[in-house]
Amino acid sequence: MDLCDLSAYQIADLVRTRQVSAVEVLDSCLDRMRKVDGRPGRLSPGEITPEDEEHIHAFISCTEEMARTQAEEVDERVAQGQNPGSLAGVPITVKDIFTVKGASTTAASRILSNYKAPYTATPVQRALDAGAVVLGKVNLDEFTYGSSNESSAFQPAPRNPWDTSRVAGGSSGGSAAAVAVGEGALSLGTDTGGSVRQPASFCGTVGVKPTYGRVSRYGLIAFGSSLDCPGPLARSVTDAALFLQTIAGRDRLDNTAATVPVPNYLAELEKDIKGMRIGLSEEFFRVTFFDAETAELHQEPIPEEIRNAVMAAAGNLAQLGADIVMDVPLPHTKYGIPTYFVISRVEASSNLLRYDGVKYGYRSEGNLDDLRELYRKTRGQAFGEQPKLRMLMGMYLSAAQFEEQYYQKALRARALIRSDFEDIFAPGGDYALDALLTPTTPSTAFPIGGVYGDSVLMQYSDQLTVTANHAGIPGLSIPAGFDGDGLPIGVQLLGPDFSEGKLFRIGRAYERVTEEEEWRQRRPPILEEIS
Ligand code: GLN
Repeated sequence: MDLCDLSAYQIADLVRTRQVSAVEVLDSCLDRMRKVDGRPGRLSPGEITPEDEEHIHAFISCTEEMARTQAEEVDERVAQGQNPGSLAGVPITVKDIFTVKGASTTAASRILSNYKAPYTATPVQRALDAGAVVLGKVNLDEFTYGSSNESSAFQPAPRNPWDTSRVAGGSSGGSAAAVAVGEGALSLGTDTGGSVRQPASFCGTVGVKPTYGRVSRYGLIAFGSSLDCPGPLARSVTDAALFLQTIAGRDRLDNTAATVPVPNYLAELEKDIKGMRIGLSEEFFRVTFFDAETAELHQEPIPEEIRNAVMAAAGNLAQLGADIVMDVPLPHTKYGIPTYFVISRVEASSNLLRYDGVKYGYRSEGNLDDLRELYRKTRGQAFGEQPKLRMLMGMYLSAAQFEEQYYQKALRARALIRSDFEDIFAPGGDYALDALLTPTTPSTAFPIGGVYGDSVLMQYSDQLTVTANHAGIPGLSIPAGFDGDGLPIGVQLLGPDFSEGKLFRIGRAYERVTEEEEWRQRRPPILEEIS
């Protein structure tokens, strides 16, 4: 075990009590990065070599110099008898969709490949103020549009630490892969339809999509502004809670940031879960596909191994005194993806309009006399396939003659999805649940190239995560075992608005009760190889 394998909680404690220095922890992480990461993502990567295929490629840019200055400052404050904060000396990575002053912010797109923001995103700033050390910016799907990282303009894309022929998930794939192999104890990701929870599940880490507005979006490059949530990835529930606690809260720079006070998650974490009502819903044990030929919805059960992992977790929670409530109805779950397709594309197309070659980022060379030509060329040359597709689709779906048919209808479906959750969580209601337990994803990590190119199929990997984004409610994904191929399985806990503390408590109770199980002792094979 190296320093970089310690939890954030332990690192902060050791640094504050001068048992290790922040610089030593940083060096341990950089050493790990050099061993496992391989070359960072680049715009013109050339051939992907067999050597590339054995590395993780979580990073787009390593900010070593800045990190060293931050770590030295933390050590100096400790030496002077000060407390640098809750994340003292904790190495973190940041999805390259958040601005960090002094570093580049690419959104994994050619159009922002030369962009350096003059300011730092609020959640990153809060982590820095609490003593965190930013190791670098990690890869993602272009503008977060995807579930595998394969759409990044910066290749090689991240690979799954448990099997490097598989995807790390997405869009926060770099974040999940980095955390899983000790390249930082924590990572800051974003979740619009599942982008924190899905890669967390694929890489065997913890991932949190907080309540909408719990964490400020200031400095986050927008995808779907009514859905986007910054959220932590970590190796344990305790670390995720510590991280969320540090970055959450009101922010004068983001009007949609909630003013609800941030509770002390850590104080509640170890409490028992006796008497909590935890629901299971058949709606989350199947996926619904729209068959374009017959214009019908058809449903398929999720794989047995994933269902079994959820049922086993339910058994563990029952053993701790939770009441398991079966057959919870959430009838509008099946409309989650079509609804998301419409709302997210409309919002994305609006957000993408700011990239025009004038204000920031890439500008097409050549004759600039014609403004439209400048827009066309800039976007044509520098947007990848996903931004182009989403922009076109969003414009179409919100055009005056189709808006009622698609966008307004999607907004109504979204309200129904929200009311499904309100019904099951209402205190005094028929179900009065504290949380819902579901699989995080309908499959484990798929092979690289296996789904890429089929936007619709790719989107379906978010089927079990996306309704939380529509409803604005929090979701926590935690590891819950492995499938027969040795790939991690994740389970998800969903709860009512601002119930993160309770979800952490349930997740932590599950960790405690499964502590001794064989699967908890496993480490990604790539780490065994280097030790
Ligand atoms: N995979 C989803 C998409 O492509 C979700 C992405 C996200 O949450 N940012 O839209």
